[in-house]
Amino acid sequence: MQEKEKGGIAVNTENIFPIIKKWLYSEKDIFLREIVSNATDAITKRKRLQSLGEAKESTAPFRVDVRLDKVAKTLTVEDNGIGMTAEELKQYICSIALSGAVDFIKQYGSDADNTAKDGIIGHFGLGFYSAFMVSDRVEIHTRSHTGAPAVHWTCTSDGDYEMEAGEREETGTEVILHIDEDEGEYLDAARIRGMLDKYCAFMPVEIYFDDGEEKKEDEPLSPVNDTSPLWQKPVGECTDEEYAAFYRKVFSDYREPLFHIHINADYPLNFKGILYFPRITNQYESIEGQVKLYYNQVFVADNIKEVIPEYLLMLKGVLDCPELPLNVSRSYLQTNSYVTKVSAHIVKKVADKLISLSKNERERYEKVWDDIKTFVEYAAMRDAKFRDRIKDHLLLRLTDGTHKTIDEYLDAAKETNENTVYYTTDKAAQAQYVAMFEAKGIAVAEFDSLLDTQFATSEETHRTGVKFLRVDADLGILGSAEVQEENKALTDLFLKISGNDKLTVKQESLAESEVPAVLSVSEESRRMEDMMKMYRLANEGDEDFSFPTDLTLVLNRKAPLLVKLEQMLKDNKEKTEQLATQIWRLALLAHRKLSAAELSDFLSDSYRILLDLSE
Ligand code: ADP
Repeated sequence: MQEKEKGGIAVNTENIFPIIKKWLYSEKDIFLREIVSNATDAITKRKRLQSLGEAKESTAPFRVDVRLDKVAKTLTVEDNGIGMTAEELKQYICSIALSGAVDFIKQYGSDADNTAKDGIIGHFGLGFYSAFMVSDRVEIHTRSHTGAPAVHWTCTSDGDYEMEAGEREETGTEVILHIDEDEGEYLDAARIRGMLDKYCAFMPVEIYFDDGEEKKEDEPLSPVNDTSPLWQKPVGECTDEEYAAFYRKVFSDYREPLFHIHINADYPLNFKGILYFPRITNQYESIEGQVKLYYNQVFVADNIKEVIPEYLLMLKGVLDCPELPLNVSRSYLQTNSYVTKVSAHIVKKVADKLISLSKNERERYEKVWDDIKTFVEYAAMRDAKFRDRIKDHLLLRLTDGTHKTIDEYLDAAKETNENTVYYTTDKAAQAQYVAMFEAKGIAVAEFDSLLDTQFATSEETHRTGVKFLRVDADLGILGSAEVQEENKALTDLFLKISGNDKLTVKQESLAESEVPAVLSVSEESRRMEDMMKMYRLANEGDEDFSFPTDLTLVLNRKAPLLVKLEQMLKDNKEKTEQLATQIWRLALLAHRKLSAAELSDFLSDSYRILLDLSE
C-alpha cells in the first residue's frame, strides 16, 4: 500500500458511532474485555494454523500486553496473534454494515430502551467498536502471519479512518486507544487492573499489564490471568486443596466452602463449571451467592439469575458456557433453550451431590445439613422434580443432636407414633413437652425456622397419611390405655378458673410425667395462627393474649399433685381453688408468656404460698 487510503466506516444508514457511544454508556468497562479477547482470539487462531502447518512456527512465546501511558494518554493492547492484511482489516474492521446493525438502528432509532441495548454489541459484531466508548481515536498496527505488508490504520470517533503502509515487523496486532478527555478514569492503573481482574482473569493466553510506572530491572511482570482455570481440568485430576484455593482466590472468601460440585458436561450440553455451597456463619449475612458466567474463559456476567434457579442463588461458583454468545442480554437468557437445559442440569447435579454425600459420606452430610437445610428445603418446596430426586435424603435433626431421614424417623416410630413426626420449634420454651415425649421414648425433631414448619406442611402433601405435629399439639399419644372415668367436677373447676368458656379440658393418664396439667393447641389452628402472624394479620403486642379457639387443657390424673387436688376437691377443702389456680397458671407459663396482669397475680400468690410454707 503506497498511498494513504481514506474512508468512512461503512454503515448503510446514518453513522452508528453516536449510537454506540450513547447506548453502551452503562457498561463502558467491557471495551477492555472486547479488545483483549480479540487479541487472545487472534493468538488462538495463530496457534491453530501452526498446528495445522498453515502458519510458520513462532519463536516468541504467545502473549498479550496491555500498556498504559499516562503522558501519551493511551491504553495499548498488543498481541502476537495472526494479525490482519489490509484487505482483512477493511473487511473485518472497516465495514460494520452488517445487516443486523442496520436493522437495529432502523428499528430503534436513537431512543431504544436499555434492554435492547444489551444485545447490540457482539450480536452485530461491534465488539471492536466498543473502544470508541472511551477513545476519541483508535490506531491499529498490524502484520498478518501471511507475510503481507504491515498496515497502520487510524480512526476517529466520527468514523473517519485512514489506512497506510505500516512499520510493524512482528506478526500480530497492536491496538492503541487514545483515551477521550472525559474518560480520564481509564488512565488510572488501578482501575485498569481491576477491569483486567474482573474480565480477563481466566482468559486462555497470558496477559501482562504494564502500568507505565518505572520498574526495577530484575522484576519481570507476571501475568494477570490464570490461563488454565480449574474448571477446565478433568474432574478426576483436581485435588480438594485446588478446589479450596480456587474458591479463595475467586471469591476472596477465606472460609472453607461446605462442598463443591464440578460439572463437566460435553454432550449434548456443552458447559463446565464449579459450584460451591458456601459456609454461612452469620444468619444475618446476605445469603446471596455469586455465580460468574464465562464464555470460553472470558467473563460475561455476575449472578445470572437466568441460569441458576432462584432457590439456588446462594451458590458461589463459575460457569463456562461456550454456547452462549459473548454478549447476551438478560431477556435472551430467559428464553434460550440452552440456558433452560443448563439450569436443569445444574439442579440435577446439585441433587446428585446431596444424594452421594448422604449415601457415601453420611457423617459429613449430617454435619453440613444444618447449614444447607434452608436451601434444600426451600428448593424442594419450589421444585417438585428436585424434591423427587432427594426426597429420601431429607434429614430431621432430633433434639438429642442426631439426624434421621424422614423415612428413618417414621420407621423407628412405627410402634409408638406411627406416621407422625413430632417436632419442637423452641427446645427451651417447649422443654416440658419435649421431656414428656422423650420419657415415652418418642423422638422429637428440632425445627428452628418458620421455613421448617412450612416445609413440614409441604411434605405432608407429598407423603400420604404422614402428619407433623408440634409437641404441644396433641398429648393423647402420651396417655396410657387405661380407661379413666372423667371427673366432671375437676373439669368444671378448671373451666371456671381459666375464665375461658371455649377451653376444652381433657383428662389423661400420663404415667411417665409428674406434670399435673399441660396446654395444647391443635396443629391446624396453630399453623393458621402462624400464617396470620406471617401476613401480619394478627394483632401484635405482648398484651394481647386472645385465646386460639381450640385451646385444650390436658389434666394428668396420674400426676401426684393432681391426685392430691382431686382428693381435696372431693373433701371440699378450702384451698382447693387456690391450688387449682396455681396449677392452671403453671400450665399457662409452660405454654406461653404470661400477660402483665397474669404474671403479677401469679407472683403475689406464689409469695403468699411461700410465706405459708415458711410458717
Ligand atoms: P468479533 O470479535 O465479535 O468478531 P470485533 O468487532 O471485535 O467482532 O472484531 C471483528 C473482527 O476483526 C474479528 O472477528 C477479527 O477477525 C478481527 N480482529 C479484531 N481484533 C483483532 C486482532 N487483535 N487480531 C486479529 N484480528 C482481529
